[in-house]
Amino acid sequence: MSDSDSIAAVATPPGEGAIGIVRVSGDRCGYLTARLFRRSGRDQTIESHRLHYGYIVDPDTGERIDEVLLALMRAPRTYTREDVLEIQCHSGRAVLERILGLVLDNGVRPAEPGEFTKRAFLNGRLDLARAEAVIDVVKAQTREALAVSSSQLQGALSEKLEILRTHLAHLKARVEVAIDFPEDDVEILAPEEAIPILEETVLPELVRLMESFESGRLLRDGIKVVIVGRPNVGKSSLLNALLQQNRAIVTPYPGTTRDSVEEVINLSGVPMRIIDTAGLRDTDDEIERMSLETTKDRIQRADLALFVVDYSENLTPEDQSVFRQIQAKPLIVVANKQDLWNGASLDPLKRVFEDHRIVPVSALESTGLDELKKSMVEEFVRPGLEPGSQIMLTRFRHKEALERCSEHVAEAVANLKQGGGLDMLAADIGWALKALDVLTGETTPEEVLDRIFSQFCIGK
Ligand code: GDP
Repeated sequence: MSDSDSIAAVATPPGEGAIGIVRVSGDRCGYLTARLFRRSGRDQTIESHRLHYGYIVDPDTGERIDEVLLALMRAPRTYTREDVLEIQCHSGRAVLERILGLVLDNGVRPAEPGEFTKRAFLNGRLDLARAEAVIDVVKAQTREALAVSSSQLQGALSEKLEILRTHLAHLKARVEVAIDFPEDDVEILAPEEAIPILEETVLPELVRLMESFESGRLLRDGIKVVIVGRPNVGKSSLLNALLQQNRAIVTPYPGTTRDSVEEVINLSGVPMRIIDTAGLRDTDDEIERMSLETTKDRIQRADLALFVVDYSENLTPEDQSVFRQIQAKPLIVVANKQDLWNGASLDPLKRVFEDHRIVPVSALESTGLDELKKSMVEEFVRPGLEPGSQIMLTRFRHKEALERCSEHVAEAVANLKQGGGLDMLAADIGWALKALDVLTGETTPEEVLDRIFSQFCIGK
């Protein structure tokens, strides 16, 4: 099967809904329209990029399958740059399966996850950074996360990279001319000229982008938070109190959530994925021990732990034991049940947990939560890198590529300063450019592409 096969998939989420869409891309779209669609009324002409009302019929029996709106979009002004067909029908499993089945019976194969977008990329409609942004737009959980991915989709990051690329390519071209025509009277590139471009223009921008990665990643993926503590200190109550005020509007997309029990809350635009943990305690019970292992595993993978203590009671050895298991993590000590101990000094707690932030709250009365939320965000978001404040890197892949690029640029500068020759400079800049090309998809290896597009849902 070559990439130019026609592909089809249901493009809407599974389950009952108002509308379901079967989407097709490739040469077969015109044929399928003629074969499966009957416009209502006498006029059977189909115009590109227009919605037509009619029926999908089984061509063998003439049976009307469903009343639909159909759009046939002829290449190249389409998502994939191929012919695209979209059939909007009623969204029920049987209807969608039947229509998709008819399409597949007529020389079309099922699309792989992300294959529509992959074609858009392969046909030059999107560069890789923008194609990846498509996933992020779909999965964005807060308005700020959406803003970052949406600007990346519109090309903000790509444009920034293009500017860097132009600086480097321009330098390289001049170096190459100087190498190829040494005796000619070409304008020789003096190190005093190349160094500032590399050192003052290219490198700082690379560094700024790389530094934005930590915030960008958290904005995209969310911060994984675990709430831990011995039984009855108020973990569930705290989770509920936080959820009541801040539950993210968008629930996690199926398949993105690896942990079974996870709730997403939106704190100043930063998605926090709160992972529910069974109580941490030493136990002989086999089942409880297994759940303990899961809990430990979740704690391992968390970015932040909220360590809840009941400050209306003395700390117990059990509290201490829980603390020992999480103390290597970034953590906030939550002194709960403030309504019961109000007025008491936090000093004893500060002496025990000296290096950690301590926030008094009452989960029951929902007091102290603002301070807690503020602390949670402050643990991660650096000033100046608040969500949505600028173009951000959201992917490790991008950061890696820019790291490689900046290493070569730094090497070029070092070599220039040590009086290295033009050949060396051309090579260094060439490597730096290659690293950028991997990011934008110009020279990305096939298996990396496959990995990227397999993260999409089917039909995207
Ligand atoms: P978990 O076992 O740690 O999840 O604790 P729960 O959330 O189930 O709470 C245990 C008990 O403490 C419940 O009876 C709660 O109502 C109570 N509780 C939780 N938070 C507070 C609080 O801030 N103040 C008071 N007075 N009681 C609380």
